[in-house]
Amino acid sequence: MHKPVRKLVIAGGGTAGWMTAALLRKVLPRNVDIRLVESEEIGIVGVGEATIPPIQLFNQYLGLDEKAFLKATHGTIKLGIQFENWRVPGESYIHTFGAPGATVGFCSFHHYWLKAKSQGLKQSLWDFDLNFLASQKGIFNKINTQNPVYDMPYAYHFDSALYGQYLRKLAEEWGVTRTEGKIESVELEPESGFVESLRLASGECIQGDLFVDCSGFRGLLIKQALKTNYEDWSHLLPADSAFAVPSERFATTLPYTRSIAHRAGWQWRIPLTHRNGNGIVFSSQYCSDDEALNTLLSHLDSKAIGDPRKITFQTGRTDKQWHKNVVAIGLSSGFLEPLESTSIHLIQSGIVRLMKMFPNDGVKPAMVDLYNAESKQEFETIRDFIVLHYYVNERDDSEFWRDMRALDIPERLALKIDAFAQAGALMNDQNDIFRDASWLQVMMGQGIQPQDYHPSVNALDEQALSDVMQKILAAKQQPLTKMLPHDEFLQQFTG
Ligand SMILES: Cc1cc2nc3c(=O)[nH]c(=O)nc-3n(C[C@H](O)[C@H](O)[C@H](O)COP(=O)(O)OP(=O)(O)OC[C@H]3O[C@@H](n4cnc5c(N)ncnc54)[C@H](O)[C@@H]3O)c2cc1C
Repeated sequence: MHKPVRKLVIAGGGTAGWMTAALLRKVLPRNVDIRLVESEEIGIVGVGEATIPPIQLFNQYLGLDEKAFLKATHGTIKLGIQFENWRVPGESYIHTFGAPGATVGFCSFHHYWLKAKSQGLKQSLWDFDLNFLASQKGIFNKINTQNPVYDMPYAYHFDSALYGQYLRKLAEEWGVTRTEGKIESVELEPESGFVESLRLASGECIQGDLFVDCSGFRGLLIKQALKTNYEDWSHLLPADSAFAVPSERFATTLPYTRSIAHRAGWQWRIPLTHRNGNGIVFSSQYCSDDEALNTLLSHLDSKAIGDPRKITFQTGRTDKQWHKNVVAIGLSSGFLEPLESTSIHLIQSGIVRLMKMFPNDGVKPAMVDLYNAESKQEFETIRDFIVLHYYVNERDDSEFWRDMRALDIPERLALKIDAFAQAGALMNDQNDIFRDASWLQVMMGQGIQPQDYHPSVNALDEQALSDVMQKILAAKQQPLTKMLPHDEFLQQFTG
């Protein structure tokens, strides 16, 4: 079908555009020419500072030096997200990137913990999680060990605009051609409906065999030219607005993101080395701009730098993320609010998926279908994970939280909640980036208490179970002695 791909055109140079350009240039053969078009006048969305651990793989694949990358992007370490006031005001928990406990027997650690708890164990599940222990002390170090008990997965907070520029420099050095210019129209081949070229305001016409739409919320190619449908998920995630404002650097740089729930939305706080990133996400149905802005500004920990900026969005996704010869990556493919810092990851997994299914000899319908099926499942499982945070709440201070509790949630999510509540069981879906430990922490953190634990736990008698628990607790303390305060680590590591 269609012709071999020798000319790849990327429309847009935000984080999505430059991540795509850098990785594809690294892996594609030289006979595929890569060109990126972007408009400085239009600019980028300019938010997005928190990530999840797979970003490390992406950087490693590109061969980035971690120290240089952290320095160039004012990056810090992220061990998880602290959710404050989500179940009820005044309470908090952390969704860490780690996993509590260790492998004990046939079933997951939390079943052993549940039984030990019923026998009088005092420690919370998180007391068995290295990421939690380090984040509470504000310390970090890289742990070089194969022992899973000491595993401490981490991600980064960074300035995504600087990250994009960092990747741009590399991509251009590796041979990506950048064209500055405003795309005015997208020309289609009359018969196939495939995109043929992009016409710029300068009159220049850029032809391609395959196009990656990284044009942000506009979706110039995938939505505007190819007219794919947008699946609107605002009935599940009604937030449609955000205000973002940077503030002065805080004295101590926390190694985690803070997500603070308010009357009708939530606020993020992301620590970078030169400033904090802050913002509030809310639904205009429940909260006015004035209220959102006042809430944000009155809850900053440090002085705001510059004016707050409003961004509006619609939660959902394009029903075909790959259509004809256009693949949408980044905000053009859909948007889920940044509660679990998943957008940059979705860019990464979109690029990796495209790389695996790259239409070298031409676009093949089966590969397009496979790409779309996997992307759909990935988006849906993230959506459900985010909905979980809202749905399982016990707040009674506003219509917003009461309505979120009454949501008609997807069947699969309802099943996951019931399975955990009734038997402590966790269900994994293929293409769900959040595995057991993530679902476990958020379900427990939001207040779901399993009614039972797995019977195989009874193979250990009371004393044996208690001994195992104490042994794991002691083991988890060991690496902490080798860690440094987060700021000290960053200073030493990046020089
Ligand atoms: C409030 C908010 C908070 C967020 N927080 C996080 C977070 O913590 N973590 C996370 O992972 N993600 C987060 N995100 C998402 C993140 O910002 C994006 O995924 C990321 O910035 C990628 O954006 P993009 O490159 O797709 O789009 P953009 O940055 O908008 O880039 C679009 C590009 O297309 C170009 N373009 C558009 N139209 C034209 C035209 N006509 N001609 C030429 N060029 C054109 C623009 O110039 C630009 O270069 C957040 C998003 C929002 C809205």
